[in-house]
Amino acid sequence: MAAVTVAERSAGLAARRAGSHASVHSWELVTAVDGPGTRLTVFLAGCPLRCLYCHNPDTMAIRHGRLVSLDEVVRRLERYQHVFATTGGGLTLSGGEPLFQSAFVERLVNQAKLRGIHTALDTSGYLGARASNELLADLDLVLLDVKSGSEELYQRVTGRQLAPTLSFGRRLADAGVPAWVRFVLVPGLTDTPDNVAAVADIVAA
Ligand code: SF4
Repeated sequence: MAAVTVAERSAGLAARRAGSHASVHSWELVTAVDGPGTRLTVFLAGCPLRCLYCHNPDTMAIRHGRLVSLDEVVRRLERYQHVFATTGGGLTLSGGEPLFQSAFVERLVNQAKLRGIHTALDTSGYLGARASNELLADLDLVLLDVKSGSEELYQRVTGRQLAPTLSFGRRLADAGVPAWVRFVLVPGLTDTPDNVAAVADIVAA
């Protein structure tokens, strides 16, 4: 593979900051996961968490993705529009952590909404402060991954704090954005009754 020059790297960074491009790890057409119907799930590269049980560790580093333009993803969305309409599906942004590239997410979700396509964001919520009010207004669903209900265990499992996820969850509730809370029960790690009860308390709050 050809080496990436410093100039190319800076151009890529500027394009990601502007949201005209993103580092995309992969995408797939899925049914019955990542939201209702058949969906185009776009996995964006880069994640600030370090989950001990990460199912997709090669998405953690942003350099593991390919720089893809907004136009390319929108063209792909348009290609599947009839599938979304028939199945009640749509677009899901996942990762990695999609809000790591929030400018691109905001622009892509807006393009989907303009075409009447259902939109979902699969996020840990850790970078929820990066989600603008405009993005929230364009989201039909958030899949909020709560990695643990206990602060101490959250830190052990992810290397980060739980508080940003809780405040993002409150923001979604205040904005009236539907959310599915997801929790991975890992035997010997997150499956203590106290932790499961703490997750249930978060969902109920
Ligand atoms: S949030 Fe997801 S992608 Fe990031 S480390 Fe955890 S499991 Fe892996």
